[in-house]
Amino acid sequence: MDESVVVVGAGQAAAQLVASLRTEGFAGAITLIGEEPYVPYQRPPLSKAFLAGELAAERLFIKPEEFYTDAKCTLLLRTRATAIDRTRKIVKLDGGREVPYGTLALTTGSRIRKLALTGADLPGCFYLRGIEDVERLQGQLKPGARLAIIGAGYIGLEVAAVAVKRKLKVTVLEAFPRVMARAASEQISAFYEAEHRKAGVDIRCNVKIEAIAQDGASLVVKTSSGDVTADFVLIGIGILPNVELAAEAGLPVENGIVVDQNACTADPSIYAVGDCTNHPCAYAGGGRTRLESVQNAIDQAKHAAAAIVGKPKPYNEVPWFWSDQYDLKLQIAGLAHPADTVVLRGDPASRSFAAFRLRDGVLVAVEAVNAAPEYMMSRRLIAARARVAPERLADKAIPMKEMAT
Ligand SMILES: Cc1cc2nc3c(=O)[nH]c(=O)nc-3n(C[C@H](O)[C@H](O)[C@H](O)COP(=O)(O)OP(=O)(O)OC[C@H]3O[C@@H](n4cnc5c(N)ncnc54)[C@H](O)[C@@H]3O)c2cc1C
Repeated sequence: MDESVVVVGAGQAAAQLVASLRTEGFAGAITLIGEEPYVPYQRPPLSKAFLAGELAAERLFIKPEEFYTDAKCTLLLRTRATAIDRTRKIVKLDGGREVPYGTLALTTGSRIRKLALTGADLPGCFYLRGIEDVERLQGQLKPGARLAIIGAGYIGLEVAAVAVKRKLKVTVLEAFPRVMARAASEQISAFYEAEHRKAGVDIRCNVKIEAIAQDGASLVVKTSSGDVTADFVLIGIGILPNVELAAEAGLPVENGIVVDQNACTADPSIYAVGDCTNHPCAYAGGGRTRLESVQNAIDQAKHAAAAIVGKPKPYNEVPWFWSDQYDLKLQIAGLAHPADTVVLRGDPASRSFAAFRLRDGVLVAVEAVNAAPEYMMSRRLIAARARVAPERLADKAIPMKEMAT
């Protein structure tokens, strides 16, 4: 019997999976196949400290290359997996090579969603997903340069914060009526919008992008509310999960590769972990979700490793996420629904406050700005599905550690 594990996609989830397989005592061969030229690296700094030039490239790597040698993990970098033959239990690679597997793990992550409009492929338009994208962008971050950012999600706003600090003239164009509309409460959106404006970013919401045109050395972003002229454009309009390998192999895919609580697909020999998965989640209203976060990649990988070695412990961790903009650390735990009640603790003007989200009296999520105790305690309360009185949450005189009582 082939006991080998082949991991396709060398990113955050893959690094954790390799490490956890060895910690769990897996003694078989491990092969890690990744299309990028690097060992797995962290993406969060790409729109934060690394873009700002405050973090050396070596610090991006989750583990040094020697880790993979020591873990007896064969690295096949710059190599793309092109197909899975489930009958023969083989992964096909570009160039025609075939790699047999005992267990296959798909950690293929996600890719940028491209803006499907005229001009969005002009040379002055950039996206941000990998190290090379940052290297291209960094060359543009010159004081006085005009940057138009399409999309006021986390990546767009983090880049705006870095760029305005570097004295660029930044305009952010957002289709929704508010920034971070997909993931944050109205109160958090309003706070961040005000902070960006204070820093000098021109934020424009409710804007429909119509096209991008070249005008000499400049780009003109044509929108429903007028033209915005820029030297370069960053497009940050979300991602798409890399599910094609699984789908073409006949595995169920529905906004992500469908897996169970052990990260196992419909084929018991194939697991999937990280951004590319649609998994059961007790914190998601509908019972399933697809998450785009480091927490999910790491935790799900640990559970997948446990299941692969025959010691399953179903994955059910509270989702969490963070974003760094200026000197503001936003920490989010749990999954909120727009209909959830919002309770504020602290004054946003103090730049340290939290927005709690309650559903039927139960704390389901927190958005904490420079408020670590609120965030940490809420994570525990969310896991415990605790009922907390809104007036107690709002009362700064009551310490967070007393909320559980
Ligand atoms: C700029 C940026 C900032 C972010 N900030 C945060 C943050 O602050 N907090 C947070 O929690 N999350 C953040 N994220 C999201 C987080 O980085 C992802 O959720 C995480 O990387 C997911 O890990 P993954 O292993 O599933 O996918 P990835 O890390 O994307 O790795 C997947 C890898 O698989 C490779 N691959 C895909 N298909 C194939 C194939 N067929 N053959 C070979 N290789 C393949 C891809 O090229 C990629 O290298 C950020 C992401 C970006 C891009």
